[in-house]
Amino acid sequence: MTTGILYIVATPIGNLNDITLRAIDVLKQVDVIAAEDTRHSKKLLDHYGIDSKLMAVHDHNEEERIHTLLSLLQEGQSVAMISDAGTPLISDPGFRVVRAMRQSGIEVVSIPGPCAAVAALSIAGLPTDRFLFVGFLPPKQKARQAELESLLAETGTLVFYESPKRIQSCVEDVVSVMGAERMVAVAKEITKSFETVKTAPAAEVLSWLAEDQHHTRGEFVLLVQGAEPGAAAVIDPKVLRALQMTGEYMPLKKACAVVSELTGIPKNALYEAALQQNKG
Ligand code: SAM
Repeated sequence: MTTGILYIVATPIGNLNDITLRAIDVLKQVDVIAAEDTRHSKKLLDHYGIDSKLMAVHDHNEEERIHTLLSLLQEGQSVAMISDAGTPLISDPGFRVVRAMRQSGIEVVSIPGPCAAVAALSIAGLPTDRFLFVGFLPPKQKARQAELESLLAETGTLVFYESPKRIQSCVEDVVSVMGAERMVAVAKEITKSFETVKTAPAAEVLSWLAEDQHHTRGEFVLLVQGAEPGAAAVIDPKVLRALQMTGEYMPLKKACAVVSELTGIPKNALYEAALQQNKG
């Protein structure tokens, strides 16, 4: 018996028209649609007259569902997996299912389409030749700042998803960890009526978020331009040596603060330089 195919199908991130003809065909033809939230997806499916059988597969039952999905596919049935919006597996469930199906020899086929991260990159005006998708940052400030610190020396554009509740505090943390001058873009409500992109230095984006309550409503992608490549090179080697020596007696961040006090060089620049030097 031939096994069925698992299709990973992207769905709209706001505008219902953003679905491919192939996605509609596949969703109509499959035996089962595995959806993150069946009630939520029903609206999209009804809109396109799709009445394939639905099964809920979300973060909390993904592991249990693997067995059921594998049996269906081994019996020759075909399955399409969708999430609430955009591309499944991208800050959405599906990874464990795809890994398990591939390990069992099931064919997994992509039906590509919208993804908020890629849509934001395509319109923000920040470099796209190299980027790092980080997804959601931790909700607690200390952990969030620590994660941003770990990304200080990354030269690619950083891509985050953020909730309206936290977008402002998150940009505040970008200012304090990466500096007020780092270029930042917030892309909100992409493909929807109030789609807006604000691209400016971090401090200016923070003021923009604070100036109007509408600016913090909706769904957000936050982009942060990467560190200048070779930032270490612009700092005097003697200063770098001083940083290295000080760093032997205290944590790197503290060493940066001390050397910054003595030399007047911003501590973020010193930190980036030290990380790049360590990498080198
Ligand atoms: N799988 C989805 C994708 O391909 O983009 C992402 C799912 S994740 C659970 C949801 C997050 O994506 C939102 O909190 C927001 O950060 C971002 N997002 C989704 N739709 C968006 C939109 N229309 N505009 C801006 N950000 C959006």
